[in-house]
Amino acid sequence: MKILHFKSELRFLLKEARIKRNKIGFVPTMGALHPGHISLIERAKSENDLVVCSIFVNPTQFDNPEDLKKYPRTLEQDCFLLQEAACDVVFAPSAQEMYPQLPELSINFGNLETVMEGAFRKGHFNGVGIVVAKLFHIVQPDNAYFGLKDLQQVAVLNRLVRDLDFDLNLIACPTKREIDGLAMSSRNVRLSKEARMIAPNIYKSLNMAKNALLAGKSSSEVKDDILLFYEDLPEFKLEYFEITDFENLQNIVDFRPGKKTALCVVAYLDGVRLIDNLVF
Ligand code: AMP
Repeated sequence: MKILHFKSELRFLLKEARIKRNKIGFVPTMGALHPGHISLIERAKSENDLVVCSIFVNPTQFDNPEDLKKYPRTLEQDCFLLQEAACDVVFAPSAQEMYPQLPELSINFGNLETVMEGAFRKGHFNGVGIVVAKLFHIVQPDNAYFGLKDLQQVAVLNRLVRDLDFDLNLIACPTKREIDGLAMSSRNVRLSKEARMIAPNIYKSLNMAKNALLAGKSSSEVKDDILLFYEDLPEFKLEYFEITDFENLQNIVDFRPGKKTALCVVAYLDGVRLIDNLVF
């Protein structure tokens, strides 16, 4: 496995691969890798000749400087896990390498950025869009892999690929969970032992909401139930719970079974921001 830190060396290596008509799979990450990330690498391995994983904690997508500072950085351990998963290339650039100057361009994702993550994390999707577009230009993958855990990110990046004509397939992969249902996340290591024990309530709330909707409760009744659920768990600070259309992530006021729906939640626990969703 090659570990590269500079765009020029990565471009050189991939040019050679393209001449050999190797299919390139790409998995962008911010590191602190866990089995959720590795499931993306494995999928990419099974569908491509060469797999590139990028590790870059992108400062421009953090609206909270404290969150950026506290984001776990474990490059050595990440490379160990990637090597085990037979990843071919790790691209771990510095911030200076990615941003010799801060981009002046900005991207507006329309109605996708007025809701949920877009509404609560100002500038987040602009930061994500710019860094992913840069990485797509550098790697020029045939296939790029993203987790449905970040459902809104997948929607935003589908729009990026469509509107800017990126010549690649964006492949959305299922959320990998711990046995107790907690969605795997790099942030989970920051939870105290006590917080980790109650963290699966997030997934529990999503399932409760799904069952209530399918049993005939209205969207507003279910939203009220979920508010009460979190009121009974004062360790959590609920940021949002939304019942949305899977395609455009806009609020569903009148839930009807049969239409693909995404339940999306963000809650703080122990000061750690946890995100999850359930699609049905
Ligand atoms: P991150 O390093 O958190 O930016 O994540 C990098 C990629 O891994 C993103 O496409 C995430 O959606 C994906 N990912 C993160 N956690 C999981 C998980 N538990 N299951 C599947 N994919 C995940």
